[in-house]
Amino acid sequence: MKMNFSSFTIHIIEGYISSIYLVEYDNRILLLDSGCFNDVKRIEDYCRHVVNRPVSDIKLAVVSHMHPDHAGGAATLRSKYGTTIAAHKDVDRWYSGLGGLLQHKLDCYMALGVARTNKRNRERLRFNPIIHPDILLNDLQVLPFFEDWAVLHTPGHTLHDIVLYHQQEALLYIGDIICDVKGKMLLPLPVLFPTHMENSYDKLATLNSSTILMAHGGVKQPENVSSLFLNMKEQLNQPPNSLMRRVYRLSVFTPEIKRQGM
Ligand SMILES: [Zn+2]
Repeated sequence: MKMNFSSFTIHIIEGYISSIYLVEYDNRILLLDSGCFNDVKRIEDYCRHVVNRPVSDIKLAVVSHMHPDHAGGAATLRSKYGTTIAAHKDVDRWYSGLGGLLQHKLDCYMALGVARTNKRNRERLRFNPIIHPDILLNDLQVLPFFEDWAVLHTPGHTLHDIVLYHQQEALLYIGDIICDVKGKMLLPLPVLFPTHMENSYDKLATLNSSTILMAHGGVKQPENVSSLFLNMKEQLNQPPNSLMRRVYRLSVFTPEIKRQGM
């Protein structure tokens, strides 16, 4: 599936677990999250057979956060095609040390559980937990090579989540900030830093946006995007259900938990 905008076309690839977005310009391609390790072959096939362009046209892969269904393919794309990787400056803290290593194993295990629920065959998910981005991103900076896109730091799900904003097209790529589960707009699992998440939703609600690209739920054009983010903020006040509590308990081993005050 694709959507045309004035200066680019957005292609939506159904990945192993998440939706992966290729933003195709005349002379270069931007990748919004790299999917799982095993999504590299899906990205390759899509570039070659649908976009009809070499994979090496992907100039930049942005990693919204380190979870296996977002960061898993990036390093492989870099080593095979020279793709530049951009991510928040703190991204490699997430899976660092022994706690990070354990968290990485648990996150891969939980991602396989999601794949199983989605009736996917078992495939390899394991990827290097340290990504060494070529470009370290900060809040409010523009993307290298794609300066029409701005970076917003939106912690809450992890401490290093970023969202990408295209002001002219009123377009947002929100990664895991909201997840559509069977038509319901839900909080990501887990929300480790609820106060940061609240601030992130407030920040996103102030933007003038009409189209949101979600990693779980595809493209949405709600009547009022701001009120959607404010509704999500309300959900933070609801008591967690058993699944939320279970995922939370399995997500507290990253050394970043100790840094939550920032
Ligand atoms: Zn995630």
